[in-house]
Amino acid sequence: MRIYLSRPHMSGHEQACVAEAFASNFVAPLGPQLDAFEATVADYLGGGVHCVGLSSGSAALHLALRIAGVGPGDEVWISSMTFAGGIFPVNYLGATPRFFDLDPASWTIDTGILAEELARAARENRLPKAIVPTDLYGQSVDLDALEALADQYGVRLVVDSAESIGARYRAERMAGSGGDAAILSFNGNKIITTSGGGMLVTKHKDWADQARFLATQARDPAPHYEHSTYGYNYRLSNICAAIGLGQMQVLDDRVARRRAIFARYKAALSRPGITFMPEPEGQYSTRWLTAITIDPAQTGTDREAIRLALLDHQIEARPLWKPMHMQPLYHGAPYHGRGVDEGLFEQGLCLPSGSDMTDDQQAEVITHVTAQLDRRA
Ligand SMILES: *Cc1c(COP(=O)(O)O)cnc(C)c1O
Repeated sequence: MRIYLSRPHMSGHEQACVAEAFASNFVAPLGPQLDAFEATVADYLGGGVHCVGLSSGSAALHLALRIAGVGPGDEVWISSMTFAGGIFPVNYLGATPRFFDLDPASWTIDTGILAEELARAARENRLPKAIVPTDLYGQSVDLDALEALADQYGVRLVVDSAESIGARYRAERMAGSGGDAAILSFNGNKIITTSGGGMLVTKHKDWADQARFLATQARDPAPHYEHSTYGYNYRLSNICAAIGLGQMQVLDDRVARRRAIFARYKAALSRPGITFMPEPEGQYSTRWLTAITIDPAQTGTDREAIRLALLDHQIEARPLWKPMHMQPLYHGAPYHGRGVDEGLFEQGLCLPSGSDMTDDQQAEVITHVTAQLDRRA
């Protein structure tokens, strides 16, 4: 592969931060770089939140749901169109997912459908323990609507913001600051990376305390090892946090670059039958990946033909997430929607969007997509 979907993009600051950690011998899962990284992210998100650095975004979701009280027999209501790491923790806890469709105007969870189902579930006394909407491809969910619904029904809200650090819901509200908690991912393919890592962001101090406790093997205060519950080894290493400190210095540039890549694709590839992911008025998405749909009836080609044509030139493109209610693992699970997500999966393609992609590389992608569209036109 020569052109990747999304690769780690170092700024040059990271090695100095890692060297500092080495110089002080904090080569451990805790240390001053981790404290600084958590404080930097909390500050970036606008303050008023507590951040806990963890080994992955999935670990963050696992802890958030456990702290929310999710257990066997509980339901978790969740966007069907998401990545495995954004749902598997529901299984870890023995809970049951109920899947929700997207709103075609935003490609994030349809809050109208969710509201109807919450009203029905309240009448039938079977409300979920938590709701987990996903900030798809870096676009914030409708936080005002979701926070109001969660309040109204007394249901916990955990926002999957793994793809959206750097996005804004409104000018003054950062993605990743919503709900009872939000989770971030610093995996290698995300907006910024710690080579692997995640974060739990929460407005509740007791949730942050609980997360730190559970993430370090649930050690009760005692000189020996004393445990009244079970925990996990989920803390982010101090060395990885040092990489994150370097990455935070360029986060806004990385988002701006991904948005510029999206804008250039849109200018070059817009034509009947090609749709770009919408961005609701007032929102600022990270455009983590440029997501488009290709309508075979109007273009005479399809997403698979374009994906394979790119692959021939060693360019990586991928279908959008396959909705979880279509996965063998979740066969038969309840789903509420009109199949908007199913259509996006059938016709959707993510184009190379890494912030380190050069203009020439993007021109090459555009050339090959255009050739495929013109060939069938
Ligand atoms: C990446 C991602 C995760 C999981 O994060 P990891 O750090 O890879 O565990 C969860 N949800 C979504 C939507 C993601 O894109």
